[in-house]
Amino acid sequence: MTKIAFIGLGNMGLPMAVNLVKAGYRVKAFDLIPASIQSFVAAGGKQASSAKEAAEDAEVVISMLPAGKHVNELYRSEDGLLAQLPKGCLVIDSSTIDATTARQVGATAFKAGIDFIDAPVSGGVSGAEAGTLSFIVGGEAACFARAKPILEAMGKNIFHAGGVGSGQIAKTCNNMLLSVLMAGTAEALQMGIENGLDPKILSDIMVKSSGRNWALEVYNPVPGVMPGTPACNNYQGGFMVDLMNKDLNLALGVAQESSSTVPMGEQAAALFEAHAKANNGKCDFSSIFKYYNKE
Ligand code: NAD
Repeated sequence: MTKIAFIGLGNMGLPMAVNLVKAGYRVKAFDLIPASIQSFVAAGGKQASSAKEAAEDAEVVISMLPAGKHVNELYRSEDGLLAQLPKGCLVIDSSTIDATTARQVGATAFKAGIDFIDAPVSGGVSGAEAGTLSFIVGGEAACFARAKPILEAMGKNIFHAGGVGSGQIAKTCNNMLLSVLMAGTAEALQMGIENGLDPKILSDIMVKSSGRNWALEVYNPVPGVMPGTPACNNYQGGFMVDLMNKDLNLALGVAQESSSTVPMGEQAAALFEAHAKANNGKCDFSSIFKYYNKE
């Protein structure tokens, strides 16, 4: 069975790495936080005392790190992994980072005879735990085909968006749209409430009308309307406002580079940033409803 090195055992990385172990892969992992490595060992994984050690005899390296600078440092620094890995290795970076860094890591990898794909995910911690993540892959078709069975051990929908960096661009487009849909849904529902409507009835109407969207279907932002949503749990769990802000900053960076016109994305970025500053950064992003509902 393929030998995998896994770097970054955070909220997402740990359950993803555990799912690889469950699928029978030999996974050696490293994180800067020793307690995370211990949790991984308790689930049947192998520990390493550095990223280099984890990658020593690996055929595949997977990283799940906070941001582009961490990914760049791991792979492209003077003593980074790309200087160590043998030709023919496959590197999968699943972190959500800027496409420019992904392309730079990919170019350095290819020069060294190493395959690279960017494979950011959608689905959050619950998707990582359940092994139902969506992977949005950028890379050559042959690299995608090589990675697919491994990604299938951690996810359900595996998309090929295009060349290296396209996975990050596609994810950024999706999350910018998601932020706009969520803010728009909260805005419309609050206006209905202020005009005497029951938000449950208004939601039932809009979800069967042309305003229908994902937030109305499965993630209603109004407390008490849809059982099981973060809105019904004081906006705990789910997808944090801080992470949405990170993704919106990446989206605005993409827009700037491509000179794309994104007034809705800019507006959503400003809204979610103000919302985070009002002490909501750790709440689920549907808490943007509180921005409109001032009770
Ligand atoms: P996290 O902060 O919980 O985990 C990141 C981990 O990386 C930490 O455990 C940290 O110690 C480790 N780390 C940092 N630098 C390292 C290094 N040089 N070597 C080894 N380990 C290192 O973050 P997360 O929530 O797991 O998210 C990881 C990535 O996935 C991010 O890019 C995030 O944007 C993306 N993402 C997160 C979610 C989510 O819901 N949490 C959803 C989709 C995508």
